Amino acid sequence: MTYARAYIGLGSNLDEPLAQVRQAINELGKLSLTRFERASSLYASRPVGPQDQPDFVNAVAAIDTALSPLALLDQLQALEQRHRRRRLRHWGPRTLDLDLLLFNDQHIDHPRLVVPHPHLYERAFALIPLAELDAPLTLFDHSLDHWIERLEDQGLARLDENGSN
Ligand code: ADP
Ligand code: MG
Repeated sequence: MTYARAYIGLGSNLDEPLAQVRQAINELGKLSLTRFERASSLYASRPVGPQDQPDFVNAVAAIDTALSPLALLDQLQALEQRHRRRRLRHWGPRTLDLDLLLFNDQHIDHPRLVVPHPHLYERAFALIPLAELDAPLTLFDHSLDHWIERLEDQGLARLDENGSN
């Protein structure tokens, strides 16, 4: 069986975000045909878009999977549903958001799935945990540091084990 390395971005800002993200990391390890490799620290970040909503808790997880990219997306969306994800509005608060950031070095352009994730290069809450997991990765022919140096301040703060800044 061939395994691909996939990186999953996790985010939550509703219903105990720390617990949502920790539990989701745990559940990624239980996906079929998938081995959990490791997860980044947890981070707090200011919301993208509407600011009148709670801060997010974010992390990135590395998994090795024999699932196809679309089968993995199905599993991630089922997991979001199990967290009874509520979406009140675009870029609004949500109990759990799971984004497929990278799938090996594949470029995918499908109506349901674009990889690398189209916003990855501009989002501190995805790039910085990703660099923590795998600093040598490249994105669109540049190092992660190249993209990180170009980020505006997005109020990202690494959390300790207790979830404090
Ligand atoms: P966002 O994460 O952009 O705030 P959603 O999580 O609601 O929004 O995702 C909307 C749609 O994005 C999903 O229905 C999914 O099919 C699509 N999508 C496209 N590319 C990806 C990706 N790389 N990871 C996750 N979802 C993706
Ligand atoms: Mg999403």
